[in-house]
Amino acid sequence: MPEGLEAELYRSGAERALDRTITGVTIDGRQPWAAEIEAVLPGATFVAARRIGKMVLLDLGRAAGADTLSLHFGMTGRLIVDDVAAIDSLEYSSARDDASWDRLVVGFEDGGALRVNDPRRWARFEFDPPSDRLGPDFLDVTADHLLTVFARRRAAVKAVLLDQAVVAGYGNMSVDEVLWQTGVCPLAPARDIPVDDVVRLVEFAPTHLIGMLDRGGSHRGAIDPEVRAALPPCPRDGTPLRRDRVGGRTTIWCPHHQVAGRPS
Ligand SMILES: [Zn+2]
Repeated sequence: MPEGLEAELYRSGAERALDRTITGVTIDGRQPWAAEIEAVLPGATFVAARRIGKMVLLDLGRAAGADTLSLHFGMTGRLIVDDVAAIDSLEYSSARDDASWDRLVVGFEDGGALRVNDPRRWARFEFDPPSDRLGPDFLDVTADHLLTVFARRRAAVKAVLLDQAVVAGYGNMSVDEVLWQTGVCPLAPARDIPVDDVVRLVEFAPTHLIGMLDRGGSHRGAIDPEVRAALPPCPRDGTPLRRDRVGGRTTIWCPHHQVAGRPS
């Protein structure tokens, strides 16, 4: 399940695809932008690899009817450049690289290729996505922005952080991780999170998450897939961890130290 952290790994992997002339495109015909992508890419080059939230954006280097190709990886998509995967295996996904799962193949003049391989077909590709449907990126979001949004939301803070229009890039595992690390209760109404805790969350998240990125992605935190499955005592204080549904997602949290914002 590629979250913003995985998308950042894909983005850095996509830098290997820059400044190489595109000679061919093969795309899953069910993709809504298939015809446009097949028509525009040949002859072009990617000149920059950016990321917003869970999307990787590849900027095109010549006026060709589109400025940017966006890649969204769904639940199981992987980005592979020249047969080198940015991530060897995703949690809950297959490490197999079956060519029949290639949903987009961009071939370069030098014989290499950029591919998105996705067993479950939820990856999406489009040109020039509207920029107003995503909030600020989760690694850049400010406390002022979150405080403004939180003040008018009574939904659980975890659900609000997962709303990509509020802040782009958080996924289920990375949200559980930062809430556990910062002692914020995932079920607390967003508007009840004290200002100091919002500020701490915003300051802590990028540095800690980038550490997880260096270790391989959103499954490399304290609340890792083994902890999620086994529900051992809290690594910090030994209290049994809890598993609840919050915003429709399985949420692992510690009832002892994740108290910020919790109704008393
Ligand atoms: Zn704890």
